[in-house]
Amino acid sequence: MTFITRFAPSPTGPLHLGHAYSALLSYDMAQAVNGRFLLRIEDTDVSRCRPYWEEQIYDDLGWLGLSWEQPVLCQSEHLERYNAKIIQLAEMGLIYPCSCSRSDIRAALSAPQEGVPPTTVYPGTCRHRDMCSRQPGDALRLNMERALEYVSSKQLEFLESGPKHAGMHIVSPQELQRSTGDAVLGRKEIETVSYVLAAVVDDAKQDITTIIRGEDLFDTTALQVLLQALLDLPTPHYHHHKLIRDNAGKRLAKRDDACAIAKYRADGLTPCDIRQKLGL
Ligand code: GLU
Repeated sequence: MTFITRFAPSPTGPLHLGHAYSALLSYDMAQAVNGRFLLRIEDTDVSRCRPYWEEQIYDDLGWLGLSWEQPVLCQSEHLERYNAKIIQLAEMGLIYPCSCSRSDIRAALSAPQEGVPPTTVYPGTCRHRDMCSRQPGDALRLNMERALEYVSSKQLEFLESGPKHAGMHIVSPQELQRSTGDAVLGRKEIETVSYVLAAVVDDAKQDITTIIRGEDLFDTTALQVLLQALLDLPTPHYHHHKLIRDNAGKRLAKRDDACAIAKYRADGLTPCDIRQKLGL
């Protein structure tokens, strides 16, 4: 089987050293086995994504010496594909509309309920609603309890090869309920899916065999494996790599312009210098 991996940035800001690590590692791992390396632009969050940052991604990755297959899949051009999956889940009775604001949820969580242990996941205020009651501006949530019943005969598991969590992981339904709860799959903006679902749909569509990404996304994997099981999609292998940190040991964020690739380029560093900095 041909090894196929992808680098899937969201164009919401400049690429920094952490992105460069992820992209270069994915590219190198694919090259090492004569595999394929794809670039995917995850731009479903229209409020935060900008064409300017997308252009900068192509520019920075090209400068780093990477090449990728054309055409590049831009998620904003495939919203109907993700919506079809939302409809599929809705027809299975696994989705409900939710009008709760962040502050509603905070208030519900801080009101102690007798006999109910404290939790930080969505308290289920709108769980009784059906899809016919959906209003513009409602989010769509997965009914986690029903979803887990749906896949109760399947073993949810994934193989991880990253340095921190290497091995076979069994996804525990209890743990998913406790840590993730009724996840948002369709965001408040009409026709906008959450990243978790769009990524699962496209990883299958693009026949991705190995997902290489930062350790910060390790905890998202259990939900993605559940979605794969619900939608009858294959579960790829995973490789969550170390995070690149700044000098103070803090994880890099898009706003940390000091570590932006564009900044290093402007300062006269070469792609080799970047590889050296990253130990690649
Ligand atoms: N688009 C996500 C990000 O920029 C990456 C998702 C993934 O690799 O699964 O953080």
